[in-house]
Amino acid sequence: MNELVYPQHYRLMETRLQERLDNGTTRCNLCAWRCRIGHGQRGFCQAHVNRNGVLYNLSYGIVSAMEIDAIEDKPVRHYRPGSRVLSVGSYGCSFRCSGCHNLDISWGVQALDGLARGQSTEAYLSPEQLIKIAKEQGVDGIAFTYSEPAVWLEYVLDVSHLAHQAGLYTVYVSNSFVTREALELMRGQVDVLCSDIKSLDEAFYRDLCRVSDVQQVLDSIHFAAQSGIHVENRTNIIPGKNDDMEMLTNIARWIHNNLGSDSPWHITRFFPAYQLAHIPATPEDILWRAHDNARRVGLTNVYVYADKGCDCAKDNAPVVDFVSGQAMEQLHAVKKCSASCCGDEGILLKRYEQAAVSATDCSVSD
Ligand code: SF4
Ligand code: SF4
Repeated sequence: MNELVYPQHYRLMETRLQERLDNGTTRCNLCAWRCRIGHGQRGFCQAHVNRNGVLYNLSYGIVSAMEIDAIEDKPVRHYRPGSRVLSVGSYGCSFRCSGCHNLDISWGVQALDGLARGQSTEAYLSPEQLIKIAKEQGVDGIAFTYSEPAVWLEYVLDVSHLAHQAGLYTVYVSNSFVTREALELMRGQVDVLCSDIKSLDEAFYRDLCRVSDVQQVLDSIHFAAQSGIHVENRTNIIPGKNDDMEMLTNIARWIHNNLGSDSPWHITRFFPAYQLAHIPATPEDILWRAHDNARRVGLTNVYVYADKGCDCAKDNAPVVDFVSGQAMEQLHAVKKCSASCCGDEGILLKRYEQAAVSATDCSVSD
């Protein structure tokens, strides 16, 4: 494998789905934000940076958390049941959910700022190192999770390619706010999509996740299934936010009509967090009513989890627990880009960070 595709050391990685626009601006087509990003600026997820008209991923190989799970914990029940996955995540997300449990990882603002400034000591694992850990741990697959994996898609694709060569399957746990182009890149690389359908209500996505395009989410899920990816869906029911029984039944109906009567639907329980800390955990009877209605519309594989919320809610082991030998020496070295193409000794925003660090079209205030 050549160095450019699978770098052994941290470096900025040029993204595959970028469009060059006027005046050095680029459009990122990895997720449905399709951020327009000017020189020295970052996209909504904060993980992509425009440098001199080229878009780079800041977080390639930067692993925020790692854990070994049963595939059923993702939750996925109809693909290799009884097998185990190495779950990994990075920093950054394409949503800003009001009830997110793991802001340090999912938004990762501090970690991504550190990378942009060339001051980060976050853990870096090359794709080969990650596969080596997976084989050492004796797992059957790798799951990209904890936040939206599109924000480090270059790494997801490189690891998936190597995973298949090593006899491992791959799982992509997603909010499905991803583009068709990104899904096309995943075709043949990602085996399983475990996707959220948080609601069918635009207002829910707008008010709680900062996006407003339910159809985009549904279209992505449908396209993934058509592309041959095994798809399972999940809805985390939040009291007073997305617990309308008619809407929940319509999610079940959509799955039935678009993915098939045997397509799995996982119903999980909300637990209080962040801006929704005042809302109590979902009463169990709501979960079961949604289940019963889904069965009535013809869905045959409906699962209720009274003890499970969304995947970002887990306590994960530090990466250092899985690393030994040479990888340990480099794990927490200061991360500056090892390539010369980006200039400024790898400190991406050295000159520009004070003036502009968020995207022109996509900035948020949190
Ligand atoms: S949020 Fe991130 S991944 Fe999505 S389009 Fe913007 S820069 Fe790209
Ligand atoms: S709940 Fe999931 S989709 Fe929402 S911000 Fe957190 S990690 Fe991202």
